[in-house]
Amino acid sequence: MKAVLDHVGIAVKDLQAALAFYRDALGLAVEAPEEVASQRVRAHFIPVGESKLELLEATATDSAIAKYIEKRGPGLHHITLRVDDIHAALAQLKQRGARLVDEQPRPGAEGSLVAFIHPSSAHGVLVELKQQRAAPRATSHVTRYTLGELELVSVSDGFFRLDGGAMFGVVPKPLWEKKTTPDDRNRILLAMRPLVVRGVRTMLIDAGLGDKDDQKFHEIYGVDRTRNLDHTLAEAGLAPEDIDIVVATHLHFDHAGGFTTRDSNGRVRPKFPRAQYVVRRGEWDDALQANERNRASYIPDNYLPLAEAGVLQLVDDDQTIMPGVKVRRTGGHNRHHQMVIMESGGETAAFVADLVPTTAHLGEPWIMGYDLYPLDTLASKKAFYKEAVEKDILVFFEHDPAIAAGYIREENGKRRVVPALT
Ligand SMILES: [Zn+2]
Ligand SMILES: [Zn+2]
Repeated sequence: MKAVLDHVGIAVKDLQAALAFYRDALGLAVEAPEEVASQRVRAHFIPVGESKLELLEATATDSAIAKYIEKRGPGLHHITLRVDDIHAALAQLKQRGARLVDEQPRPGAEGSLVAFIHPSSAHGVLVELKQQRAAPRATSHVTRYTLGELELVSVSDGFFRLDGGAMFGVVPKPLWEKKTTPDDRNRILLAMRPLVVRGVRTMLIDAGLGDKDDQKFHEIYGVDRTRNLDHTLAEAGLAPEDIDIVVATHLHFDHAGGFTTRDSNGRVRPKFPRAQYVVRRGEWDDALQANERNRASYIPDNYLPLAEAGVLQLVDDDQTIMPGVKVRRTGGHNRHHQMVIMESGGETAAFVADLVPTTAHLGEPWIMGYDLYPLDTLASKKAFYKEAVEKDILVFFEHDPAIAAGYIREENGKRRVVPALT
């Protein structure tokens, strides 16, 4: 069994006096407290490297912590070891005759499972085992949402992989690998989730990677398109001819690759034969004049054929593309990166593309190393989060492998994504 020290719990009688020591005298940062109503306890976590200290404050006289302090005085209360498989750990302990407080794990904070081992078996120390929430499973499901008069259908062009370090910019690996596990080449799994908007017309926002890339490209980027946009559009009841408008958030290959396809003569042509393609003029110009830093992201076959076929519509500013749907520049990721805002029946949704590519990028400094103007990303994220919380915006995460859409909620100064029910 492999175990990692998660935290050390300390029973505290006088919180202010404890903070005067841990926070003020030692100079450690204390996180916002967490109320555990069922235990009648308030927990104040203090990060110390890979582990944390947990100051435990009773909120009622019948709290187990209050009783503990009454009996033994304040001090070390428990240590918590994190294990991969708590059921297996408990079975192994039981077989070896350890006395368990919890024979079966019970739900702990943030979706974890926990179980206590009696101090009599652990040489006088109360030991808590903890299994962190399993990472949500990657899905390429088609999911539908109703937004007033609009129907929003999240589709998929499969998965690909990018370097984890590049995806999280200045965030160190010990932090990001808690949210997403890299493969043996340090790459993390990313989805491509274009969005269909059905209103007075049928719109597709972005189109994934498409089918023009060779084996070498697929190898470098770990491409898995076994279930791709063709399959998921069909599942949504749509053929390529049904798309009236295609909107580009920007022209990087993982967003614009599916705009075009190769016909039987090997010629590259627009994939959606009836569609007008809407691209921001600044992004179009930047793609045509790619530089050494961003050139790998721009593949001319993804967008030049649109101009040749006469289906390209360049837009200069933030504007309405069809009733209830407008584009809004975010900058940051690249100079003219735009998101798409949908409003109908008093409800709002946002397709934020690479502004917040996955739910793991929720934290403000969790900004991709690819971004050309990271401080602009930061400013756009802050402004968007304020609006998203106030208006309860349904947010689409284009690259999240498991969660297509959710709501950004703020509690006790902490932000999280609550997945949307479909
Ligand atoms: Zn991009
Ligand atoms: Zn992207």
